[in-house]
Amino acid sequence: MHTSESRRRALSYGCVLGGIAVAGLAAPIWVAAHGLSRVEISAFFLFYLLSSVGQGIGLHRYFSHRSFETSKAGRRLLAILAIMSMQGPIIAWVADHRRHHAHTDRCGDPHSPHADASCRPLTGWRGLWHAQLGWLFDGSFTDPDVYASDIVNDRFLRTLDQTRLLWYAASILALPALYGLALGGVEHVLGTVLIAGALRAFVFSQSILALNSIGHTRGGQRFAQANTSRNNALVALFTLGEGWHNNHHRFPRSAHVGVAWYEIDPLGGIVRMFEIFGLVWNVRRIPPHLLAERQADPIVSGPDGGRAPNTRRARGRAAEPA
Ligand SMILES: [Zn+2]
Ligand SMILES: [Zn+2]
Repeated sequence: MHTSESRRRALSYGCVLGGIAVAGLAAPIWVAAHGLSRVEISAFFLFYLLSSVGQGIGLHRYFSHRSFETSKAGRRLLAILAIMSMQGPIIAWVADHRRHHAHTDRCGDPHSPHADASCRPLTGWRGLWHAQLGWLFDGSFTDPDVYASDIVNDRFLRTLDQTRLLWYAASILALPALYGLALGGVEHVLGTVLIAGALRAFVFSQSILALNSIGHTRGGQRFAQANTSRNNALVALFTLGEGWHNNHHRFPRSAHVGVAWYEIDPLGGIVRMFEIFGLVWNVRRIPPHLLAERQADPIVSGPDGGRAPNTRRARGRAAEPA
């Protein structure tokens, strides 16, 4: 069963990512021929924002880490935005992500740049490739009964997962086409589909996957931990805050990942806005006293040649629950 599941995953991701990449590459050709108008540009940013809310707030901070609570309607809306962000089935994504937190950079991490599915060490470009895309096709499988037992039998999520290709079509084709038609007329439909559908989905998906590769190899480490997670401003820019990945690994249940004033976390700001309007509640934050303690931890040089965690000290502390 695991083998067929992993084959199905590889085929599904291959078709979706390959299709998005080909269509996304057609967008610049269309722009060169037709130019860009405010319709295509505004559509790109609007659908990029909706994907970010679905993935960063829905899939990640809500379904994976339970960083806040919301109503049944809020949960369903986040689930719809999550499936339309085209990161694969919701339940499988949550299971993979929780396994990543449980085994970060060690044997069992589904997408580490430092170890593959057979626990062989990885370095350099091979590691980056595995963490970015290779892991989707390595035949591994995360058991949702183990890592996502709280949602594995959620009928609404299961229905979305089973019908995900329809939601992908709405995200990449139907809704951008409607936007182009409504705001610009029929001559803007193809351009909006290519730019706000395909190109947006391509840039967004690769940015999220960069959290696995660049987010564990390039950037600063505010907190010493038994993993190589990094804070990377460029990844944070493209993921609307998710790139403060070292902060996130230290406090995975916090709905806000920015610690310093310059660690701008737009998705955390949106959660705060939802909270002010009463749409979400019991929002988890980093306790200030814990933050002060943990920032005082030293960071030592590691075997990867960069700044690596002080493993002994980090293991000696109680880990933040995922
Ligand atoms: Zn990570
Ligand atoms: Zn996480």
